[in-house]
Amino acid sequence: MFNCHSESINKCLKELKSKREGLSQDEAIKREAKYGLNELPKEESLGWFYILLAQFNNVLVYILLVAGFLSFLLGEMIDAYVIFGAVVLNVVIGFVQENKANQAITKLKNLVEQKTTVFRDKQEFIINSSKVVPGDILMIKAGNRIPADARLIESVELKVNEASLTGESLPSKKKTEKVPQGAPLADRENMIYAGTIVVQGKGTAVVSKTGSDTELGEIARLVKEEEEGKTPLQLRLDFFSKQVGIIFAIICLLVVLVGITQGRESMEMFKVGVAVGVASIPEGLTVAVTFILALGMQQILKKKALTRRLAATETLGSVTVICTDKTGTLTEGKMHVAHIVIGEREFEVRGEGSRQDKNEARAVSLALQAGMMCNNASVENPGDELRSWRFIGTPTETALLSAAIQSGLNKDKLLKSEPIIGEVPFDSERKYMISLHKKNKGYVLYEKGAPERLLDKSQKYFHKGKLKKILKADRVSLDKTYKNLTNKGLRVIGLAMKDVQRYKADFEKEGIPWEKIDNDLVFIGFIAIKDPLRPEARETIELTRKAGIRPIIITGDHRLTARAIAGEAGLDVELDNIIEGADLDKISDDDLKKVIKKIDIYARVSPHHKLRVVKALQAQKEVVAMTGDGINDSPALKAADIGISLGTATDIAKETSDIILINDNFRTIVGAIKQGRIIFDNIRKVVTYLMSDIFSELILVIGSILLKTPLAITPLQILWINIVNDGFPGYGLAFENSGRDVMKDKPIKKEEPILNKEMKVIIFGSGLTRDAILLLVFLYLWKSGMDIKYLNTLIFASLGVKSLFGIFSLRNFKVPIWRLNPMSNKPLVVAVLASLVLLVAGVEWGPLQVLLSTTGLTLNSWLFVFGFGIFGIFLIEAVKVYFYKKRD
Ligand code: ATP
Repeated sequence: MFNCHSESINKCLKELKSKREGLSQDEAIKREAKYGLNELPKEESLGWFYILLAQFNNVLVYILLVAGFLSFLLGEMIDAYVIFGAVVLNVVIGFVQENKANQAITKLKNLVEQKTTVFRDKQEFIINSSKVVPGDILMIKAGNRIPADARLIESVELKVNEASLTGESLPSKKKTEKVPQGAPLADRENMIYAGTIVVQGKGTAVVSKTGSDTELGEIARLVKEEEEGKTPLQLRLDFFSKQVGIIFAIICLLVVLVGITQGRESMEMFKVGVAVGVASIPEGLTVAVTFILALGMQQILKKKALTRRLAATETLGSVTVICTDKTGTLTEGKMHVAHIVIGEREFEVRGEGSRQDKNEARAVSLALQAGMMCNNASVENPGDELRSWRFIGTPTETALLSAAIQSGLNKDKLLKSEPIIGEVPFDSERKYMISLHKKNKGYVLYEKGAPERLLDKSQKYFHKGKLKKILKADRVSLDKTYKNLTNKGLRVIGLAMKDVQRYKADFEKEGIPWEKIDNDLVFIGFIAIKDPLRPEARETIELTRKAGIRPIIITGDHRLTARAIAGEAGLDVELDNIIEGADLDKISDDDLKKVIKKIDIYARVSPHHKLRVVKALQAQKEVVAMTGDGINDSPALKAADIGISLGTATDIAKETSDIILINDNFRTIVGAIKQGRIIFDNIRKVVTYLMSDIFSELILVIGSILLKTPLAITPLQILWINIVNDGFPGYGLAFENSGRDVMKDKPIKKEEPILNKEMKVIIFGSGLTRDAILLLVFLYLWKSGMDIKYLNTLIFASLGVKSLFGIFSLRNFKVPIWRLNPMSNKPLVVAVLASLVLLVAGVEWGPLQVLLSTTGLTLNSWLFVFGFGIFGIFLIEAVKVYFYKKRD
């Protein structure tokens, strides 16, 4: 394959059939027809209107719309308003969710919609970036956003910020010389890429790739390919409302048919049918669920995580695996240099440890100097006292800089005598950094990075303070030293340097030929950095395991370091259960699926390994939460069931993630998962509560039809109960916090139905018993000649009170009501009291008596009503005890 970066400019121009004076306009038009517009593929029909319309395609919305129109036609305006209100809410929520989900791709697309200057027919033209074609000569200058991937022809002090592509926030200096075949993206200094920004200088370049063929297009494709499926909650709610819809449609029809065959008036029966239909649709459900999710989001935010998608709040409860990185999440991310090792000897930062001679002291100082010079951290307030200095930069570099300063080195002063002329910044794929400095009349190179990478390139090392050739035996001993350090859980950085005087002519001629000079290094030594475990990490890991969730560490660090840290956190990992990035590259996806169950640590991995790990875990039916921060992490974050970006992550990583960790702490992830479980638990409680009410109403209406009596409760009374009883107390349940209990269970299965057996028995078993008794009381009293208005009122009050009492039993399925402190959920108590007042008002207050066709009840009747409520509690508790014993 032809790669522009590894070829000369002329060869590149020839390959692209272009010349320095640019293409002709005619040729450009031809090429546009051949290659298409320079755009990322457009998402089909993703206008907001389409997304809005799509929200109506939902069974619950169908049912609600039909019922709403029928109510409207029948003049039942209150019913109609309530139902249409529910429809609007449903649609709005769905719309907001889906719109957000498409933001990441849109953002990527926006990056390329710009104007560009090109050279065509020996003239400058400003054209729309989408019109750029391969072979076009681009003229770029500071402030431009680069429209396509291109090979540089001229570069004058050109610096480009490629953070949107490589995650590297420092601008990279550009040059025009060839770079070797296979150089990673960040190292192709003669190439500029679509979507990146010129921060300094100017240049010309020949376009090599446009549109989706560009590197940006590749990322957009990866992000897009990981289609976002419906969350477990959405699937379950869909399924549930479908079931409810079908069952109640049949019931409605039957009620109407039976009534008509009994000779009841058909118009009246139609009205009853609609009343039953409206009463039986859990219209409060979508609203209550949204409320629970939104409240959950707030709770999660309090724990310092920001949920970007409402539905993700619920998926959290199903998470079975957390893939986390180490720095900042498990450890504090506050690093400090523990010691310096030269050869086999350990030294303290200030040289106070082991005795050291002059030569050794020099080597220690050189190690610190290399760590300081090849370093992008800085001090924000150098004018202040040393103690109160604030460092800016990554924890690793900050630690190195701080140690060097403590040992008495002064970076500003050193930089004056050794000014920097170029650098290769650190990145997680490469795992090292180089800086090149002018020194006296020559040049010196400092390098720091993963020790094995540096040792591979080194020929000499400091032994007892003196330079020595690295022989086989020395490598063994250096390896041993390295292993000992990592075994202690220390992050180990290797330091190297090189006198590069002999390349002087090259520098002056063609810029810095990094590949040519980055070898034959002098390995100075190791700097071991301690990053203390977060104090709460051990307890959190323990909690995670008890909750049936598997923690997995994915780190760029050394396997032994990761293993030691894991051990400190209470995760004892055997060496067999660790795999390194290089080994991952060697095994197939199928083999990975086979071993994935036993891998607890992925070490020395690069961002691109993460997507494979997510997919392999998901193939094993795991629900995966995955952390990430760089742009290269985006595909994995998107593919994961819960993508978690760190607070310090790049914009694209944040856009693609479901959750942003504000404080980077592992405990926050677990806290969010706990909240997810509480949310699901509360949704179940609300569903059980609403369904119990619906079922009672159906039994009473159908029962009276079958018993050929007048209706035991009127349609308007049903509506009153639905609005008053199902509204507020349902919300009260959203505040239920089953805290510790939820983390003792296994994760909620993705396919787990909303209602489990216990809940069904509560709704249908105890419900049937209770309501059949109420129906019999009704039948008996009606037969004994009691006024039907009084009777309706009695049933209305009994039904209302039994739900308001029963809700206290439903607060926790695992704990009996007498062990639940009512005051631990004050919003619920307030809601129930308010509902109770409204219910009593519906019975005893004149104006409402007119509206609801009710009449005042005697004291004895009220005693019956409250007695019936307590009886309801008793029945639910009996079911809870039965299932509690069964579980034990
Ligand atoms: P984790 O966050 O899981 O602990 P990480 O993502 O920080 O790991 P990387 O940043 O990829 O891991 O670092 C990998 C290795 O590269 C480190 O073990 C260290 O040896 C080296 N390294 C880290 N930061 C730098 C740096 N700024 N300069 C040079 N080398 C570095």
